[in-house]
Amino acid sequence: MLAQRMSLFSASGTANARAAAKAAAASGKGIIDLSAGEIWCEPPGTVVAGAIAAIERGENRYTDTVGIALLREVIATRLSLDTGHVWSADEVAVTAGAKQALFNAAMTVLNPGDEVLIPSPYWTTFPAQVQIAGAKAVFVDTRENGYWPRIEDLRAAVTPTTRAIVVNTPHNPTGAVYDRALLGSIAELAIRAKLWIIFDECYGSFAHEPHHHENIVSVVPEVRSRTLIVNAFSKQLALTGWRLGYLAGPKEVIAAVKALQSHTTSNPNVIAQHGVLAHLESGDRSFEAGLRTMLAVARRSGLEILSRLRDAPMLGAEGGFYFYLDLSTVLARCAPGTTIDDLTNRLLAEAGVAGVAGSAFGDPTGLRLSYGVQRDELEAGLVRLVTFFNDVD
Ligand code: PLP
Repeated sequence: MLAQRMSLFSASGTANARAAAKAAAASGKGIIDLSAGEIWCEPPGTVVAGAIAAIERGENRYTDTVGIALLREVIATRLSLDTGHVWSADEVAVTAGAKQALFNAAMTVLNPGDEVLIPSPYWTTFPAQVQIAGAKAVFVDTRENGYWPRIEDLRAAVTPTTRAIVVNTPHNPTGAVYDRALLGSIAELAIRAKLWIIFDECYGSFAHEPHHHENIVSVVPEVRSRTLIVNAFSKQLALTGWRLGYLAGPKEVIAAVKALQSHTTSNPNVIAQHGVLAHLESGDRSFEAGLRTMLAVARRSGLEILSRLRDAPMLGAEGGFYFYLDLSTVLARCAPGTTIDDLTNRLLAEAGVAGVAGSAFGDPTGLRLSYGVQRDELEAGLVRLVTFFNDVD
């Protein structure tokens, strides 16, 4: 018999979509998979060389629970450069990807019964982790406002038990990139209502012109003591499988995270730490710049193809590497009772294109498509998809 908490959430919707796409591809159908939250290219040579050197040196033992001291220092220095505020190593915990950083944040600052504001559609893991911590996810719908939360909606959702707000920009799945004005209002609200800000900037390297990613601490320095910054090398260095991320926040929280992590996973993988350390120490950001350019080109070409969709509003796709379609008009054309899951399954079965249904993100009409795939695959997939949705009923 399972524990009660296991009834609060199910397996990640994005992981399920990825598995369905892989199963369809394995059955020999020519599937184009736009479901994955990762970028197809090889990681930077500096990371690979750093990891190989670490293996050859025999770096096989535990490191400090929250990461090699030098890596924490280098991350703190980079954060200082990026935010314009000085960070020290004891304000940084290295984790097994951003997912563990978020989990640590939830477990160290949330009490059972606390409420956490989450703009919706939302990345599927945010509410699941809040629920694992015994707290309650309170969703604030952003669909009528170009996927940006309206500050008055956030304010209206605050109650005496609200303890935190999740701010994810650039946003997964919607691609929204919040501007300084919105971040400023969220910061003001957090100060007034005494909220923690869980600030997930995993896609921070991918804001597409004219949009710019800003860290909320750079916009309103007063929120620093209530902000937990979550980031990872998974997306920015195309290293999803290496599992390396970090949490940056007040020293007391990082000390608590160290205690928690010492009883859960201990240190993140030592070889991954050395690989990323070598890359960060090199100071070379040309890989990140190249990735940004590659994604900007893919985005442009994808948007051009998607503009031929008869019944879907034009996309912002302001940041990250996802197109997020609102298919409410397409669904209205289909047989009564057709759901977004039905439509996504038909897209896979009839057009051979895999995406992630909005139901995974709390949205009954959305569809997420990744453009982190090779350009020819992306273009072929989107052409098939446009034909399918323009004809479907
Ligand atoms: N945060 C967001 C918004 C994400 O989209 C993801 C992964 O898709 C993560 C965190 C988790 O990243 P990681 O693979 O580093 O655990």
